[in-house]
Amino acid sequence: MNIQDELITRNQEFAAGFDSANLPILPKLRTVVLTCGDARVDPAHILGLELGDAVVIRNNGGRVTRAAIEEIATLAFLVSVMTEGREQAFNVILMQHTQCGAQRLSNPDLQDALLKKLGIDVSEYAITDQESDLFADIKRLAVAPEVPDAITVSALLYDVATGTAHEIAPAASLGAIRAEVSVSQTAVRG
Ligand SMILES: [Zn+2]
Repeated sequence: MNIQDELITRNQEFAAGFDSANLPILPKLRTVVLTCGDARVDPAHILGLELGDAVVIRNNGGRVTRAAIEEIATLAFLVSVMTEGREQAFNVILMQHTQCGAQRLSNPDLQDALLKKLGIDVSEYAITDQESDLFADIKRLAVAPEVPDAITVSALLYDVATGTAHEIAPAASLGAIRAEVSVSQTAVRG
């Protein structure tokens, strides 16, 4: 059996018990989870997400890339349009994990080889230290003007050896984070 046939069979089992036809289009938890594409790190399993709960964006490492920023900003815009301006905000949860393949991308030789061979710059995805990289990603959102102040950001680190997601950064609004960043920049300048 090829993989697609296998997955169609699994889907038929899913569809046989399907009772979620009337879910609202806006996610019930008003949450976007941005995480790694690693097959061990599926938020539906780890965070117990049900159908309709959250938007999940996945890329190599779960990093805040330019593409991820544009997706989050577009979602915020859509939420605002769909609620006729009543809702501007949702939660963005950044979740990286231990034993991440994107840690290999921090190897400068590998980065050079990818750039030379395929013209792909992976320096944006490379993970050197999950905790500081998560804070760097929060800052990337904070300095992206297209992402609204009302969005709340937090960060988790999932341990693939124990199944536990540890809180690295508690939820804070981007507006509050931006105010802090500008205060510290003023302090540096002063
Ligand atoms: Zn990963």
